[in-house]
Amino acid sequence: RQSRLRTLVDRPARTRDGVEIRLQANLELAEDVELAKANGAHGVGLYRTEFLYMNRADLPDEEEHLANYSAMLADLDGRPITIRTLDLGVDKHSEALARPGSNVSNPAFGLRAIRLCLKEPELFRPQVRAILRASALGPVRLMLPLVTSVHELDRALAIIAELKRQLDRDGLDYDDAMPIGAMIEVPAAALTAHAIARRMDFLSIGTNDLIQYTLAIDRLDDAVNDLFDPAHPAILRLIRLTIEAGRALDVPVGMCGEMAGDPRFTRLLLGMGLREFSMQPGALLDSDADTLARRADRLFARLDESDSTDLLAAFDAA
Ligand code: PEP
Ligand code: MG
Repeated sequence: RQSRLRTLVDRPARTRDGVEIRLQANLELAEDVELAKANGAHGVGLYRTEFLYMNRADLPDEEEHLANYSAMLADLDGRPITIRTLDLGVDKHSEALARPGSNVSNPAFGLRAIRLCLKEPELFRPQVRAILRASALGPVRLMLPLVTSVHELDRALAIIAELKRQLDRDGLDYDDAMPIGAMIEVPAAALTAHAIARRMDFLSIGTNDLIQYTLAIDRLDDAVNDLFDPAHPAILRLIRLTIEAGRALDVPVGMCGEMAGDPRFTRLLLGMGLREFSMQPGALLDSDADTLARRADRLFARLDESDSTDLLAAFDAA
């Protein structure tokens, strides 16, 4: 199947009725760029930067970040990259960042990702400065993980503005219009997607954490793995709220959680209006966006009577 799909990678990702879909790659290691390009990715929709912090006793400095991002940009030959700021905690650890209290009972609810960066801005600053400097070299977007409240965005934006002034003083280049976005991966963020979209240039739905936090299912716990259900009505509602908030404010919304790369959900997500998918690339999109949108509407009209086990069948039959 892979080799059959490979013959299609140069074909445009377009639905039968001509709607363009952006297919991007999630990357964790710079080496994976080649695979993303071979599979026809339009760019990198999620660059997980945690590996820069892992398996070492010290922290990466600004120059190390910058060297990594500029090498990525060079390898991407002009394709865009969305660099996510540090998302350490729970499933991604760093010895250099071990803190007293790291063994709290609920690390998924603890000091991680944007929370850690705002509490310890000296950790955040070198990475953001490097991302800003990389934006002078190619199409770069900066993405903030695990946003829960708009005040976190306001604080992060204030730090970014302060770093731009610093770069001005240092005589270092950056793109003043570099888009800044937020991951929607906490139910609170999806429920307040309007307020978040008003402050951000783009949103990206992280279904791995969104499902974990909405359904109270530990994404790493095999004992409850069978309950991890992307098609749960609560998840579909949060996704729809986010897409609609973006549409109302003209802020692009993508998805970069595993659900985006699962072909079982592609048609439903297209029908709900999603146009940007970031994943391990390789799936063919050949559906009629207009029909799928009507089916999604019919499904949502009946959502209260449905249970999650037959939602996809109901969508296909709608
Ligand atoms: C997500 O939570 O869906 C996501 C894309 O981020 P990560 O898997 O790195 O937490
Ligand atoms: Mg996540």
